[in-house]
Amino acid sequence: MVIFSENEKLTPTIVELKNQNKTIGFIPTMGALHDGHMSLVKASKEQNDYTVVSIFVNPTQFNNLDDLAKYPRTEEKDKELLIKNGCDFLYIPTISDLYLENEKAKHYDFGTIDQVMEGKSRPGHFDGVATIVSKLLRIVQPTNAYFGEKDFQQIRIIQEMVKQENLNVNIIPMPIFRADTGLALSSRNARLNDKQVNEAPFIYKILTDAVNLKKQGKEIDEVKKNVEDSFNNSPFKLEYFEITDEETLLPITNFSDSKNVRGFIVAYAGDIRLIDNIKF
Ligand code: AMP
Repeated sequence: MVIFSENEKLTPTIVELKNQNKTIGFIPTMGALHDGHMSLVKASKEQNDYTVVSIFVNPTQFNNLDDLAKYPRTEEKDKELLIKNGCDFLYIPTISDLYLENEKAKHYDFGTIDQVMEGKSRPGHFDGVATIVSKLLRIVQPTNAYFGEKDFQQIRIIQEMVKQENLNVNIIPMPIFRADTGLALSSRNARLNDKQVNEAPFIYKILTDAVNLKKQGKEIDEVKKNVEDSFNNSPFKLEYFEITDEETLLPITNFSDSKNVRGFIVAYAGDIRLIDNIKF
């Protein structure tokens, strides 16, 4: 694996490969890598000639400085895992390789899709995400870029940004990679204690229960009430549970209002914010 810390060195390497008609797969990450990230690397390796991973904890997408400070950083382990999984190029820049001094996130107009759920809970978050992903896509110039459906709203934002900026890249959504218990793998899980790790599969169970209730003919208000009631007797604190159309991300009132329906959940285990979703 070749490691780059400067975009001025990485971009010409990629341009040369693309001139030889090679395809490039790209997975942007914030590090603390796990098997969820590796499922994206695996897909990229199967579908492209070369695979690039970036590791950058992007300050402009954190609206909470404490969350930024506590974000896990495991650079040496990450490198080992990427080598083991056959990654070709790692881009691991410093802030100054991506941002000018005091540069802020660009302000985007995404209509309603950044006004709901994560956009509402974390003001400015998606401007930061779109800003950094736009910068990274311009540097890496991939044929295909891979994003996990664990951050489903993020994929919708990135699809819109790519359309608005007319970037020449395929955005490939990838299914959520889960532990055998059902818990969605996440870098933040590293902060869960043993008790919380044992309890956290509850969140996926709530989501599968919700899907089963729909199969039994229950409507949205009943499904939502069941989720809220289940949290009352749990060690977790529910921040939100929304059932929306996958395209607009706007809440629906009846399951028949949309062909593509998804349920989104955010819950706290202590001060650790866990996010998950499921297709109905
Ligand atoms: P992050 O490092 O958390 O910014 O994640 C980098 C990419 O990996 C994003 O596209 C995430 O959605 C994706 N990702 C993280 N965890 C998972 C998972 N458990 N399954 C699938 N994709 C994931």
